[in-house]
Amino acid sequence: MNDIAGLMERRRRLLGPNVPTFYETPVEIVRGEGVWLWDADGHRYLDCYNNVPHVGHCHPHVVEAIAKQAATLNTHTRYLHQGILDYGERLTALFGHDLDTLAMVCTGSEANDVALRMGQAVTGKTGMIATDNTYHGNTALVSQLSTRRPPIGGYPPNVRRVPAPDSLRPVGGGQEVQAQAFAQNVARAIDELEAEGHGFASLTICPFFANEGFPVLEPGFLDPTVEVVRRAGGIVIADEVQPGFGRIGSHFWGHERLGFAPDVVTLGKPMGNGHPVGAVVARPEVMAAFRQAFGYFNTFGGNPVSCAAANAVLDVIETERLVENAHDTGQYALARLGELSHPMIAEVRGAGLFFGVEFVTDAQLTPATEFVETVVEAMKARGILLNKIGRAGNTLKIRPPMPFSREHADLLVDTLAEVLETLPA
Ligand code: PMP
Repeated sequence: MNDIAGLMERRRRLLGPNVPTFYETPVEIVRGEGVWLWDADGHRYLDCYNNVPHVGHCHPHVVEAIAKQAATLNTHTRYLHQGILDYGERLTALFGHDLDTLAMVCTGSEANDVALRMGQAVTGKTGMIATDNTYHGNTALVSQLSTRRPPIGGYPPNVRRVPAPDSLRPVGGGQEVQAQAFAQNVARAIDELEAEGHGFASLTICPFFANEGFPVLEPGFLDPTVEVVRRAGGIVIADEVQPGFGRIGSHFWGHERLGFAPDVVTLGKPMGNGHPVGAVVARPEVMAAFRQAFGYFNTFGGNPVSCAAANAVLDVIETERLVENAHDTGQYALARLGELSHPMIAEVRGAGLFFGVEFVTDAQLTPATEFVETVVEAMKARGILLNKIGRAGNTLKIRPPMPFSREHADLLVDTLAEVLETLPA
């Protein structure tokens, strides 16, 4: 029997208090394969949450690529090595417009840190805008945009947060005006930044608004906003850490689905299937301005092993047709979730293998936060790992590894139906 309390105590002592874990009683995971995880007691869980093992836990092709490269060479990034060039050419070819250059890093936070500095380098200004219910990472600079905990001393004056789009409670009061209202809020923030002397450098946006609760948004939603940003001389940063690499099924990138062309794209989590690698992809003149201004160097970013891992991930996405699978299985799962009948279900939404269900307690759309917590725990007890998201944490967040099949979707939805039947509404 594994000793969860003992592990928690050792963590508290060694790592300090308040280190996030999932679930009232966290799980100790010791092995993974495909979409499955096993705990120390041998219990098997269906992983419906984890976008880091993008092509499946411990995929043999990725494992082999990492092992082979690690056995040949791994070193810092100031020698010439073809790995970064081969990968960079392959990655940038996946973008539909002139995003032709890249900087490689180790995490999504680093990627966004670089992207924000690109905004500063291009404009010579410091004003940054993001939504008011988001997370883009943990560096000192990026955490100024992340809204989970305000920075000590509060948000700096060169940061503005605009109301996040919402499916059920749309910005501006209605779905049809939400896109315009969002753009107007960005325009107002830009005016304030200019008036206060910071100037405007960048808008950072997840094109799926993942941490905001992935509201349903039509293609073109960001068009008026992008126009506002361009007119003001700033750059648009698309944080593709969550929707990228085909997760949303219909497209390889989230920004393609909304139909806009960002100046900079940041990548992380799924890129190395668990190996820590991220990237910033940018237009050449943006990259040139950044390199000139900062002389940026990253010891590990783009090392031979990271590039081998990232390259192998692209191999698997292609050979196993995982984007198509995300599309087909995602549609199937959404349709099945849509058949659930429960008085607290307000909306079933998502795209590809990134979907969920928002729960409310009444006609006033009061978030059913505690109820969703109970659902998450009950699902875990039945061997299904998922979690919650959104401003009030009242939306189930389901984002499994990409080889998720219809059979897995059936298990997920059947178990959820069972849980909803047993819990008091
Ligand atoms: N951007 C987004 C949208 C994220 O959700 C996260 C992490 N949850 C990050 C950036 C930061 O990535 P990392 O934890 O790899 O630094």
